[in-house]
This record gives sequence, structure tokens and C-alpha cells, in this order.
Amino acid sequence: MSNVVLKAAGIRKNYRSGDKTLAVLHGVDFSVAAGETVSIRGESGSGKSTLLNIVAGLDRPDAGELFWAGEAAHQLSLSELTARRGKFLGMVFQSYYLIPEIDALANVLMSARLIGKVGAAEKARALELLKRVGLGERSHHLPAHLSGGERQRVAVARALMNRPKLILADEPTGNLDERTGDEVIELLLGVCAEQDTALVLVTHNPAHAKKTSRQLVLKTGQMVHG
Ligand code: ADP
Ligand code: MG
Repeated sequence: MSNVVLKAAGIRKNYRSGDKTLAVLHGVDFSVAAGETVSIRGESGSGKSTLLNIVAGLDRPDAGELFWAGEAAHQLSLSELTARRGKFLGMVFQSYYLIPEIDALANVLMSARLIGKVGAAEKARALELLKRVGLGERSHHLPAHLSGGERQRVAVARALMNRPKLILADEPTGNLDERTGDEVIELLLGVCAEQDTALVLVTHNPAHAKKTSRQLVLKTGQMVHG
């Protein structure tokens, strides 16, 4: 179906250390429609980050199928995944992962650089996005000269740069105080709606989870409705 942005079916993941096996994901099924917002909650260690990394094609499942806008991502090579990822999805992490040596604008443009497209139109879009996230006056600030909330706003702009169909956000408010965290969630939901981008939000915060159109919980390695 063309309006399904993401489909994960039967995703399994075990971690091995020595002769011990830790089964983390036991057949996770879920899908996300175009423009839909979905939250995933779950106890610490339940496998949320593992699942998001698999969905992003950054890690391989032991079994299962993954479709990106209908394309069988589980059948792609790592280099094909990397090439597709930059256009298909954006990511936002708890610890921002901005490049410290370059300013906010260059960090946003890094997404475009990764897919080999940095011209006047991309620079204009990056500035436009920085304005949209409230940082029009701070585009030349280094990450170290921005607050935590401002850094996360830069990360949101970077995630949106290439007009992705999907944003994956892994506890994006985990390092922020309550009020700043609330603002970042409002911003994420607002920009995703404006750009018709689907959002998968991993969060511990029940109030944030409630703001998405569908609430899921990762429990004993499987996805359940929350
Ligand atoms: P969550 O994000 O829900 O807190 P994670 O996906 O980070 O959970 O981790 C799920 C479980 O897998 C945890 O028990 C964690 O210790 C383990 N784990 C995560 N990554 C690895 C790894 N690379 N090697 C071994 N165990 C791992
Ligand atoms: Mg995690």
C-alpha cells in the first residue's frame, strides 16, 4: 500500500555475549502510515533503541522484514541502505549528536551534504528551517554556544532537511528540563504536520506519548497497544 511509510514484520534481535544470548526483540510487528504520528513507550532496556536502529537500517535484525515506503529494505545491502536512508528518514537522538566544530547552519546542511546536494536552494531551506525552529538569529552559533533545547531544535531542523517521509526520534527530551522538553515535542509535532512527515516518537513521558495519534508499547520483546 502506497500510504504505508514504514512496515516492520516479525523483527527479531538477540545479543550474544560469550555463551549467553539476550533475546531483545521477539517478533515485532508495526507499521506507520504517511504523515501519521506514533509513540513507543517501554521500560528501560526493553529494546526501543534497538528497534529504532533496526528500523533506520543502522542495525540488522536476526529475522524479519522491513519496508521503507514499500521497498524491501531488509533485502538491500548496507551501501544501498545508506544511500536510501538520507532521503527517506531523519533521526533525532537524546544527545543531539551535532558536530561540535561547525555552526548550526552547517549542521543542518550536513543532511544535504550526505546525499550530495548542497546548493543555494539547500542553504535557503536550511535557513528557513532554522527560522522555523526559532533559531533564525543563531544560525552561525556553534553547538557549544547553544542551550540543550536549542541544540535539539537544530537536530530537528537537520532531520527535516531532506524532506524525509519519516522521522525517528529516540527519547528526544531525555536530556531536557520539563518545559523545554514540552516545547521540543510541540515543535516536532508541528513541523512534522506541516511537512507531511510521519513521526515515530520513543518517549518515557506519558503526556508526550498521548499527543501522538497512536500509542504503542514495547513489552517483553513485542509491540502492544498502549
Ligand atoms: P531501550 O532503548 O528500550 O532502553 P535498548 O534497545 O538500548 O533498550 O537495549 C535493549 C537490551 O539490549 C538491553 O538489555 C541492553 O543492555 C541490550 N543491548 C543493547 N545494545 C546491545 C549491544 N550492542 N550488545 C549487547 N547488548 C545490547
Ligand atoms: Mg534507548
